[in-house]
Amino acid sequence: DPDALAAFVEALGDIPVLLDPALVKQRSQDFFWFSPVLKRQLNDMTAELVVCPRTRDEVTHTMAAAWRCGINVTPRGGGTGNHGQAVPLRGGAVLDLSRLDRIVWVRDGMMRVEAGAKLIDLDKILRERGWELRMFPSTKRTATIGGFVAGGSDGIGSITWGGLRDAGNVIAAQVVTAEAPPRVLELRGSETDLINHAYGTTGIVTELELPLAPAMQWRDIVVAFPDFMQAARFCLVLAACPGIDLKLVTTIDSTIVPSLEVLRELVAVGESLALLMVAPSGMTTLAELVSAHGGQIVLDADTLKSEITSGSVPLYEFTWNHTTLQMLTQDRTVTYLRSLFPAADPLALVERMRTLFGDELPMHLEFLRVGGALTCAGLQIVRFTTEDRLAEIISIHEQNGVSISNPHVYTIENGSGHKRLPVNQMGFKHEVDPLGILNPGKMRDFVPVRAPAENAE
Ligand code: FAD
Repeated sequence: DPDALAAFVEALGDIPVLLDPALVKQRSQDFFWFSPVLKRQLNDMTAELVVCPRTRDEVTHTMAAAWRCGINVTPRGGGTGNHGQAVPLRGGAVLDLSRLDRIVWVRDGMMRVEAGAKLIDLDKILRERGWELRMFPSTKRTATIGGFVAGGSDGIGSITWGGLRDAGNVIAAQVVTAEAPPRVLELRGSETDLINHAYGTTGIVTELELPLAPAMQWRDIVVAFPDFMQAARFCLVLAACPGIDLKLVTTIDSTIVPSLEVLRELVAVGESLALLMVAPSGMTTLAELVSAHGGQIVLDADTLKSEITSGSVPLYEFTWNHTTLQMLTQDRTVTYLRSLFPAADPLALVERMRTLFGDELPMHLEFLRVGGALTCAGLQIVRFTTEDRLAEIISIHEQNGVSISNPHVYTIENGSGHKRLPVNQMGFKHEVDPLGILNPGKMRDFVPVRAPAENAE
């Protein structure tokens, strides 16, 4: 409704907005195109404008105006999600939170920060004070902390600290609701589950309090192995070593390696890789383990240096979903899966899946802790043929006891990694967003009390 939109823009006063359709479309998209299914479903979705608040008060003001005018609001951080989390399904406004980027405080191994702060900027400031982020996605150089908690799950650091939804990894969240007038809530401890991985459907997160890890001078290590399972077994043994500080343990199949720029030049054809981030204190034991498992260290570099030197790429940008991105730069037809192998003997099932699917699913493993137990997730590359075959591949995994977080759906319920949160996010949404104007369509079973348009004055 153009009148409602005009009234909304006027009510925003001097809060910056973007109205140029090309820019608005650009900020209405994320990395959903990794999935051919989501690409088909979401490609044409766009908001009508982007609102860029600079303070929490401006967020509250925006939410009050959105309620009055019946405008949908889809929050956005860095826009790096893979499941269309930040794509507005029903128009309205994209709420770009990237200007809320202040650090409130850092003390006692904790930080309180505004939600739009970029992870790379946070880590730099934390490091000056002797701390670092416990975990971050491989999109650290572009993603925000609010987007990670609201739309991400785990990543670099999860080998030690588990995922964002493991108890203790989020201490508190400040949330602005979609009510008249909007409330500012402080959720603490397990209450933060109400906004964790909720895609912004249960409130706009304006501040977060998170625990930190002691800063380390991480080494980027690449180890080459003649065989994939040999590399995977080495990774499992290494990951289980309590005496070695680790930030990343990844196994990459030899068929993926030709797509990994720089790395492919370090190894012989047919070799599989272990990509690691290891603390300097672990290097002696690492060298012994590598030799015992028949591997060879082919790269040893300083992670931080690669992160900040222009033209150079930190090793973590070859891992997690960056492996898929690297493959996609060479072959636009591939996509990926997100699977979790059971902690009891994960590699037996890895081997079985490799036998079943062969080169249709080049294997890529990320070792991590889930609820404290060491296991591995597969972010297998899928040589995509049809949506029916993709569904069949998922179903064969599930029949074999491999859990799938389907990266080809945009709703929270079916989507990536949601299965582990028992909390009643829908009940909370009824309280804090009764009209359903927050990222509508993403919480599959939510039915609003009345349509936002009926609310518009
Ligand atoms: P956005 O994409 O902007 O938003 C994510 C979701 O959160 C959206 O639903 C949005 O509406 C909501 N949101 C954003 N900010 C707020 C807020 N302040 N309040 C309420 N809701 C909000 N993810 C991982 O977990 N681990 C990985 O290792 C990983 N690797 C990736 C690799 C690649 C190449 C790509 C493309 C993606 C990867 N992702 C990964 C997904 C994504 O990059 C991360 O989850 C990232 O943390 C999202 O942050 P963002 O700021 O870009 O969030």
